[in-house]
Amino acid sequence: MKTFCGRANPTTGAMEWLEEDEDYDYHQEIARSRYADMLHDKDRNTKYYQGIRAAVSRVKERGEKAIVLDIGTGTGLLSMMAASAGADFCYAIEVFKPMANAAVKIVEKNGFRDKIKVINKHSTEVTVGPDGDMQCRANILVTELFDTELIGEGALPTYEHAHKCLVQEGCEAVPHRATVYVQLVESRRMWSWNKLFPVHVKAEDGEKIIVSPPEMENCPGVPSVCDIQLNQMPSSDFTALSDVEMMFSVDFSKPVRSASTYYRVQLEPVKSGKAQIVLSWWDIDMDPSGMINCTMAPYWVKPTSVFQWRDHWMHCVYFLPREEPVLQGEKVYLTACRDAYSVWYKLQKAREEEENEADVCVDSPVCRCQAHLLWNRPRFGELNDQNRTHQYIKSLMTVLKPDSICLCISDGSLLPVLAHYLGAKQFFKANHLEDKIKIIEARPELLTPCHLEDKKISVLVGEPFFTTSLLPWHNLYFWYARTAVASHLTSDVTVLPQAASLHMMIVEFQDLWRIRSPCGTCEGFDVRTMDEMINNSLNFRESKEAEPHPLWEYPCKSLSDPQKVLTFDFRKTVPHQCLSIEGTVNLLRKGKSHGAVLWMEYHLAADIFVSTGLMQVSNEKGNCEWNPHCKQAVYFFSSVIESETLSDLPSAVTYAINFDPKTGEIAMDFKL
Ligand code: SAH
Ligand code: ZN
Repeated sequence: MKTFCGRANPTTGAMEWLEEDEDYDYHQEIARSRYADMLHDKDRNTKYYQGIRAAVSRVKERGEKAIVLDIGTGTGLLSMMAASAGADFCYAIEVFKPMANAAVKIVEKNGFRDKIKVINKHSTEVTVGPDGDMQCRANILVTELFDTELIGEGALPTYEHAHKCLVQEGCEAVPHRATVYVQLVESRRMWSWNKLFPVHVKAEDGEKIIVSPPEMENCPGVPSVCDIQLNQMPSSDFTALSDVEMMFSVDFSKPVRSASTYYRVQLEPVKSGKAQIVLSWWDIDMDPSGMINCTMAPYWVKPTSVFQWRDHWMHCVYFLPREEPVLQGEKVYLTACRDAYSVWYKLQKAREEEENEADVCVDSPVCRCQAHLLWNRPRFGELNDQNRTHQYIKSLMTVLKPDSICLCISDGSLLPVLAHYLGAKQFFKANHLEDKIKIIEARPELLTPCHLEDKKISVLVGEPFFTTSLLPWHNLYFWYARTAVASHLTSDVTVLPQAASLHMMIVEFQDLWRIRSPCGTCEGFDVRTMDEMINNSLNFRESKEAEPHPLWEYPCKSLSDPQKVLTFDFRKTVPHQCLSIEGTVNLLRKGKSHGAVLWMEYHLAADIFVSTGLMQVSNEKGNCEWNPHCKQAVYFFSSVIESETLSDLPSAVTYAINFDPKTGEIAMDFKL
């Protein structure tokens, strides 16, 4: 069956009807899934295996049969571990049909057909009884339903139901318990993802400071968790104001409650400063004694231990509703509120005695200023990047004249405000403050002379930035919008940026390659069926696609020089013919060519450029520094070329890159 899906093309802005194979969604889900990453997580896997063996032994020692319930079996891995450990029978529940099918195949291939029953249902639909999905309740409960925030994937309601309906009282649970840890910090860098800092504009008539309005200053923001690879955050970018504290824990072997609740700890600041952020992570104990512990603790907590890299579990950054000065030694109370699926925090100076529970368990924060809905965390960071703002100010100063009529095309941009402070007389802003700036609620192609009060635009500006952009070149929408408004522009219009260029570099990833690399066997179980399935989904579309990743979180080293591959001239309208290039890039360092990274650079004016990708290659080893506010495009090569010495390296990679103006898509092909 084929279905038609309507969507706005992120690059051209055109509404298009795509004929999608019915399987498209699930291929996307598999291709972008974290199953491979989980299978590569050696630390997780070995500890689950140890925990499962110990639980099976405990049950057997009591003289009972070991009946296992594995909720969310995925590839069937944990059930196979249990069966190998001597479990008498396993019920493996998986709600996602393609995965349940894969689990059946993998279980058969590994010879566990008689021991493991795969049930393609949500656990809350599973029945128990002589005619049910399960013959009887289980006495061992095994799951891996956790996300970075621990409870975001619904672990609590799932456990709550399982204890009520699917397992025996006093069952063994693997993991046995989870504990959430917190640390209070001050960090200008992370706080800049949540608040707009004052912008300093040096105009001809003195310095002006743009400050955010009070409703934005006082806004508690949005409740969605910010999950990042904290291990990539240098210690110089934050100050710990407290020690690491245990915030709350959940015992999975006892009935679990998912209803909203709160937990409170007393913290004694180890340093005076501004409390802005709660950093948080968790660990799981696989057994009751706590001897088998799998932890997400970041590098500064256990500096000596060896780290397991993983992307399926990272770290949480929570923004306090407002920054709060704290004094060393002067105790404060940190409250974690949670509902069934998410957590949020507040900080209080002293315990308010009469406080009743209803007051404490505040509703989750709601953005009142709109900015937190318009700008996501990286976007806040980008707008607070003073270096970047300075580049835009400098270039605006070179193009603005007292009688300029300006039009800005970008989402949630500060450019009109900057231009206004720099003296632009009249400013129009399509699509999205004061009387000097007029906001036009119209798509660029629907702009009429009336919107512009019959004036012609002499300066067209954009960052460009659009909230619909996922890949770097989606911001070429600016070019399409510029083309759509061409009739409203003066013949000598100035366009800022005047051009964009696409850059490319071959890299070796420290860890990110794992998410695309086949697993083969995992803890002795053959999971090649899963590898094939992922590969199949990746190749579902004829041409492979690049995927967006924020590379500041995923270290890599450059194996080639960066290369400019395509240029898009915004002074002209979008051409009808394709832009394409074929070439070769020399490999300069030994290493594994995992893929190519692509990013855009904007030529603002004269010799002013801003990069959304590579900032610099910081040393002779080739370590790269990336723009921390943008995602770059990563194209993974299907085969990795490995080489120890330069001499047996292929000395070059050939590439062909094509931009099709009709679809706005960039297709690429690489040969090693
Ligand atoms: N157990 C596997 C896979 C873990 S991923 C492993 O450890 O490698 C979690 C899986 O649980 C996903 O495949 C998801 O589809 C499934 N899942 C989550 N909640 C579920 C529920 N309540 N019932 C059934 N499946 C669930
Ligand atoms: Zn807000």
